Amino acid sequence: MKKIAIIGCGISGLYFANQLQDKKNYDYIIYEKKAELDLNDGYGIQLSVNSIELLNEIGFSNIAAKEISFPKKVNFLEAKTCKKICDIDISKFNSENKRYTTLKRSLLIKFLLDKISAEKVKYNVEIIGIEHGKKIKLSLSNNSTEEFDYLVVSDGVFSKTKSIILAKDTSPKFFNSVALRGNIKNIDSNDISVYLGPNFHFVTYPVNQNGEFNFISIIRKKLSNNEIFDQKLFESSVFLKSLSNEIHQKTSLNLENKLKNFKSFPVYVSEKFEDFNYKNIYFIGDALFTFPPSFAQGASQSIEAGKEVFEEIKNNNDSYYKKRRLKIKKINLRSKLNYFVFHLSNPFMVFFRNLILKKLVNNKNFLDNYLGKIYRN
Ligand SMILES: Cc1cc2nc3c(=O)[nH]c(=O)nc-3n(C[C@H](O)[C@H](O)[C@H](O)COP(=O)(O)OP(=O)(O)OC[C@H]3O[C@@H](n4cnc5c(N)ncnc54)[C@H](O)[C@@H]3O)c2cc1C
Repeated sequence: MKKIAIIGCGISGLYFANQLQDKKNYDYIIYEKKAELDLNDGYGIQLSVNSIELLNEIGFSNIAAKEISFPKKVNFLEAKTCKKICDIDISKFNSENKRYTTLKRSLLIKFLLDKISAEKVKYNVEIIGIEHGKKIKLSLSNNSTEEFDYLVVSDGVFSKTKSIILAKDTSPKFFNSVALRGNIKNIDSNDISVYLGPNFHFVTYPVNQNGEFNFISIIRKKLSNNEIFDQKLFESSVFLKSLSNEIHQKTSLNLENKLKNFKSFPVYVSEKFEDFNYKNIYFIGDALFTFPPSFAQGASQSIEAGKEVFEEIKNNNDSYYKKRRLKIKKINLRSKLNYFVFHLSNPFMVFFRNLILKKLVNNKNFLDNYLGKIYRN
């Protein structure tokens, strides 16, 4: 029996744990820093068909259809006028049981937690030290030490475990952007709508069949170090109001009084793909690499990486990091390109962007390359 420690109870750690479920060769424990998980927030997440296929393997297709949504298109609109520029038919990448899906993040976490028995998750615990050789000895914040055969690190963008293992500062970089998200009701489109404006974009999509939608905006913003690390700033109603006003003023979409449960946070990304030379330690999800949130692949890639690490351990392979590095490179490039294109402000550039976008969305080769290569496992 191989013992596996999983650090972090997010989408990546939980998907990996589901792979181990009911496999008699493995035993695992998840260590989670928080005292509990938020299973009630209404914010959304988009999952492309690559991750839906992997989620279906563990029973995702049994979730009631009214709790999730299947957008068929991504509409691109000018934020100022709400005039549609063009759309992409993402349902082209669907197959019968595998559809592009949007839902509440908390529903996904609940689903992933469902088969995991309560004693497998140790809350309020993080790693404070590690000795690694053939076995891995963890010193934990609850003053205990435990020995494992494998360590799977899934503690997110600020991965403290990564800094401990690599014995250096691995902090992510502030992406000169702030995210503003909220819940919104009764929008008259069941698709994903991406509104493009100068130095910002926002996205709306349904999270279920009950008229609930997710709103997420990424706003380019230079902040001082003091501001970036000031959690109170991001929570303050003055800051939230100034961000939402900034958007209200730049769009003709009537958002006034429609948006609820606003939250804002600074956007961080990974600076580089680290060299990981360990046989029995694996990084997955945002702890491995965090993308700019403009290609909606973070969660899907977290799930893919969880699956790949399980296969790597099961088959005693040595190709995980090589394969992952290549995929991450492709997605990072697309995420950065999307961000650049979505936020153009010069009117000439905007004019040409719109012309090019209209052409590209009808070009099968382009779509197969830009999306298909990522959406197909
Ligand atoms: C604005 C925004 C919008 C996004 N939208 C999408 C989208 O539509 N589609 C998509 O695919 N992706 C999206 N993403 C990305 C996606 O949310 C992440 O990539 C994904 O949640 C990463 O999952 P994870 O399990 O790696 O990390 P997380 O979800 O961050 O989970 C990490 C867990 O580890 C715990 N933890 C942290 N430190 C420690 C520690 N030291 N010890 C123990 N536990 C610890 C945390 O409490 C947490 O529970 C978005 C990201 C942002 C910022």
